[in-house]
Amino acid sequence: MASPICNLQSAICNLQSAICNLQSAISLARSLPMSEMRRESPYPMLSVEAASAAITAHVAALDTEDVDALAAEGRVLAATISAPEDVPDVPKSAMDGYALRAADGLAPRRVVAELTAGAQPGLLIGPGAAARIMTGAPMPDGADAMIPVELTEERDGVLVIQRELKPGDYVHTVGQDITRGQPVLARGALLGPADVGLLATVGVTRVAVFRRPRVAVLATGDEVYEPGGPRPPGAVRDSNRYALMAAAREAGCEAISLGIARDDYDGQRAAILRGLEQADVLLTSGGVSMGTRDLIKPILAEIGTVHFGRVSFKPGKPTTFATAGGKLIFGLPGYPVSSLVSFEVFVRPALRALQGDARPARPLVQARLTAPIRPSPDRPEYQRVVLSWREGAIWAASTGGQGSSRLISMRGANGLLLVPAGDEILPMGTELEAMITGSL
Ligand code: AMP
Ligand code: MG
Repeated sequence: MASPICNLQSAICNLQSAICNLQSAISLARSLPMSEMRRESPYPMLSVEAASAAITAHVAALDTEDVDALAAEGRVLAATISAPEDVPDVPKSAMDGYALRAADGLAPRRVVAELTAGAQPGLLIGPGAAARIMTGAPMPDGADAMIPVELTEERDGVLVIQRELKPGDYVHTVGQDITRGQPVLARGALLGPADVGLLATVGVTRVAVFRRPRVAVLATGDEVYEPGGPRPPGAVRDSNRYALMAAAREAGCEAISLGIARDDYDGQRAAILRGLEQADVLLTSGGVSMGTRDLIKPILAEIGTVHFGRVSFKPGKPTTFATAGGKLIFGLPGYPVSSLVSFEVFVRPALRALQGDARPARPLVQARLTAPIRPSPDRPEYQRVVLSWREGAIWAASTGGQGSSRLISMRGANGLLLVPAGDEILPMGTELEAMITGSL
């Protein structure tokens, strides 16, 4: 017997579908009647390269902000940082041992002092003298070399060395690691752990970085429901909004949810305008194909300029790009794989360029097929693959069925294989270009 909670959930479901039907009936007035359903898109088909160039033409780095340099990993530098001083700033011992004068040759020396790291200068080493010295301690005046403790013996304050030295041996010279005025990190650098260390080394505690883009994400579709709530039979859970928000965050952005808009012109238009008020970039999912309820393109044409509405690639042909009031809008397809692959190919590089990344594109490599594949006859295809290094080459193994709704085909994938259009099966071992999207 059904529990009261189940009954309540199905009642909510029925109510939601009734509201939906009502909304559909209202919005039908704004969509095309069946006899007018378009059979041909009015948008010209662009190549991936032409579409990418159209996006690049509208992308400029955002404004900058000052942040704590010592926790700035993941941010992109907005100004080149030059070293204000030499590192090291004084000559230092490179190892634990003895500081001495090379000109004294192999003669035994009197040990006159001990210098630990952090010792202050002031000691003078005269001829025939030496000082015990630890790694990183400043070299005393007069000493021009040091000898590691392993190559010495010391008894009753007398040092005997096993090897003759040249001036400079085992000494870190001034500016050996970084010279004063040297650019240590360039504008456009994506800061990683070593860079944070470098900034600390040169004493820079605040840095100018590019602002993180704010990316608003809107799901569309009468059949699309929140993943955690009830849904009528046949409805799909909104995976795209959450996947795209995660992808935007991974690309260094702040993600804003605009919820789910029903397939209704005014509702979608209002949600898009709301998104444009809050964000630098707007992503929509669904509603860009040829269906009578695919309303995104006409809305974008009304509120801004549509730069392209079709791209010759698979999966994601109806990917749309528009601008409005200086903001970027990407109309991504509804099928989950198409929306994420289109994000990788078109949106991610734009998001990286917006935050000033000097290398906004994913790296490309040559990869060999582990098994034969059949290309798409009319469009280049980005197939999801697992890339791995074996026998001196990178190999690409398909993740299985490449259907656009099969989000599981992206699970574990760390690459997108660029398969050119063609009629011939590509044999195992064929070398193709692959975009690295995860760790190898
Ligand atoms: P559309 O591009 O709106 O025609 O949608 C194409 C397909 O993608 C349909 O099967 C939708 O149910 C599905 N779809 C649309 N939006 C989403 C979404 N947010 N999450 C998961 N699947 C979706
Ligand atoms: Mg739809």
